[in-house]
Amino acid sequence: MTMEKTLSEEIARLMSLGLHRRCAEGALNSVAALTLEINRLKKERNAVICAHVYQTPDIILGVGDFVGDSYKLADDCRKTDADEIIFCGVHFMAETAKILNPSKKVYVPSERAGCSLSESITGEDVRGLKAQHPGVPVVTYINTSAEVKAESDCIVTSANAEKILKKIYAEHEKVIFIPDQFMGRNLAKALGRTPGKDIVLWNGTCIVHERFSPELIRMYRGKYPGLAVLAHAECPEELIAAVDFMGGTGDMMRYVESTNASAYLLVTECGFGELAKLRFPEKNFIAMCRLCPYMKSITLNSVLSLLKDPSPKEVAVPADIAARAKKAIDRMFELAQ
Ligand code: SF4
Repeated sequence: MTMEKTLSEEIARLMSLGLHRRCAEGALNSVAALTLEINRLKKERNAVICAHVYQTPDIILGVGDFVGDSYKLADDCRKTDADEIIFCGVHFMAETAKILNPSKKVYVPSERAGCSLSESITGEDVRGLKAQHPGVPVVTYINTSAEVKAESDCIVTSANAEKILKKIYAEHEKVIFIPDQFMGRNLAKALGRTPGKDIVLWNGTCIVHERFSPELIRMYRGKYPGLAVLAHAECPEELIAAVDFMGGTGDMMRYVESTNASAYLLVTECGFGELAKLRFPEKNFIAMCRLCPYMKSITLNSVLSLLKDPSPKEVAVPADIAARAKKAIDRMFELAQ
């Protein structure tokens, strides 16, 4: 007798996770056929799938083993004993997983899974900044390439940037914060620092978060009294001034869980709102989100084709760059405690 799961059992599993509420009518059968095959191949290869919260719910709930923001996924990757890590997120995240797990094979299912922030700065740019500001520590948002991380003193995520910067400022008067200029300005404001004086910024932006408008938030507040507005720290300052809570996606999820607003407006990538709706079906969410084309270049079909032929999608980081980048990432884990 075979112990393998049948399609109807898989459909029942996905329904128990609420996925039928997010699928077009009739689509659940084809989603279940894909998740069934992906989970079978994953087990056969002793692989785990890391799913960032900006991925679609069929990936997150259907095949994800680890689900979370950049910090949680990097931390989860340190603890797995799988032979292979399939990263359903963007390339810099997979590089981070490879740096933390040099003996494991790491793959990204799409060649288009880049990031505008990561692409805004190179290792040479960082060397230029260090030459202009000798002795000033470089604190780098995790949304950067391995080469940029290798030039950095400490990595941060949106979840821990403020806490880590406070600790670094206890020992230094000035910090170079790269590459997100908006997150840098939001952090400077929270910490009472002045851009250009005691915090040196770069000009990178996230193409998803840079474009939200405070006028729309005011319009939604008029329409939905009691609305709680949450925005990601990659949004511009004037937008952040109009919201109730700023943070990373993990903080935003905890805020929704621990509060009881009449409605929530999540100003970030759409995948996060989809996940929040599934986790809290009793809460009311108002849609104002944007798709990240890089994140959304990954689909269940691309995950399945990777599992069938992974080698072209393997992520490599040269050993010397990985060793230097790891020091900066380890510093983050140490200071985030
Ligand atoms: S949402 Fe923005 S920061 Fe995140 S991967 Fe997309 S472009 Fe990069």
